[in-house]
Amino acid sequence: MMMKSPIIIPSRRPPSSLTVRASMDNNPQQIDPPKKKVVVCGGGVIGVCTAYFLSKKGAAVTLIEQSSIACAASGKAGGFLALDWCDGSPVSSLARASFGLHRSLAEELNGRELYGYRPVNALSLSIAESENPPRSRKSKLPPWIDGPAKTPKTIGTTETTAQVHPQLFTRTLMEKAVAEYGAEVVIGKLLSVETGGGKISAVVEGGGVIDGDAVVLALGPWSSKLTLLSSIIRVNGLKAHSLVLEPKEMDAITAHALFLSYQPAHGGQPMDPEIYPRPTGVEARVKAEQACFLPCTDDSIPVIGEIPGMAGCFVATGHSCWGILNGPATGAAMAELVMDGGSSIVDLTRFSPARFV
Ligand SMILES: Cc1cc2nc3c(=O)[nH]c(=O)nc-3n(C[C@H](O)[C@H](O)[C@H](O)COP(=O)(O)OP(=O)(O)OC[C@H]3O[C@@H](n4cnc5c(N)ncnc54)[C@H](O)[C@@H]3O)c2cc1C
Repeated sequence: MMMKSPIIIPSRRPPSSLTVRASMDNNPQQIDPPKKKVVVCGGGVIGVCTAYFLSKKGAAVTLIEQSSIACAASGKAGGFLALDWCDGSPVSSLARASFGLHRSLAEELNGRELYGYRPVNALSLSIAESENPPRSRKSKLPPWIDGPAKTPKTIGTTETTAQVHPQLFTRTLMEKAVAEYGAEVVIGKLLSVETGGGKISAVVEGGGVIDGDAVVLALGPWSSKLTLLSSIIRVNGLKAHSLVLEPKEMDAITAHALFLSYQPAHGGQPMDPEIYPRPTGVEARVKAEQACFLPCTDDSIPVIGEIPGMAGCFVATGHSCWGILNGPATGAAMAELVMDGGSSIVDLTRFSPARFV
């Protein structure tokens, strides 16, 4: 059997070990402390947001991804974001913090152009294929809807709902982390993580070993395949389908997201499809039918924190159907936890892996 060697994508990171600055006065030479080396495993939105905020905070980050950045759910999601739709649930604080971070990231990184960030109006409406109600001139429906849609109800406004193109968002953040903060990407499959003496070693298929001071495991639905995690946490993959359609007139697409209650003709099963038109247009010529897996924990709450009894080993997964929304606050909180020992952005107590031990 051929062994795949990891491909190392080089970065322009300045040397991280010892920096000696020329002294302008009579002080002795100043030596910067070495950077904390953090290995992030998994190139989905959770791993990439973590790598972005860690490297921005001064860590020397190496991200290991087995295929390509945002190749799984993080590249195939709707990219819908909501400020308050998780209110009353355990992820409310994460979602609210993340919604704000998405807005500031979009300003900082030119998200409107680079990954289609835009505030949207969200409508819920019902469609019965067998009916054809006349369209009222006062209808709230955007002009590109011509089917038998009725009773549109506004469930989100441009203040409370937004969207990104999830694959472009994730890839843009990774590109920035590499270009501006010196992160490195290694394409290779993580096989195991070894710990000892206050250090960690990530073993990659083909024999590569990447050493660090800490590791963050953000393997999404693959998390339970890693022995180190499967002994503590069970993460299931829930299959979710999506269709990418080519609109007839790209310019006619308004900033709306639609949540449908759809009753097919001839008594078929009712369905609740969601529609996210995108201004980015990268799929304009492509039609895709696809499915991928949502990472879900046993109690349906993300698991974010240090693994009990394994100093320096952190996990971030289980974001189910809200990973694109909750990626930024997860990444920013994880960066604080790894670098400073605690998070001020979101209280992570509720998400601690200790609840499964
Ligand atoms: C159809 C659909 C629509 C969705 N719509 C939305 C939405 O509108 N809004 C929203 O907030 N969320 C949405 N989601 C949910 C969101 O996509 C997920 O919660 C999120 O992408 C999970 O991110 P992740 O980084 O945890 O996992 P993933 O995206 O699955 O990333 C995990 C990564 O780890 C890598 N990996 C796994 N094992 C290894 C290994 N051994 N070595 C190296 N790399 C490895 C994988 O290749 C993968 O790239 C949707 C999901 C789907 C499927």
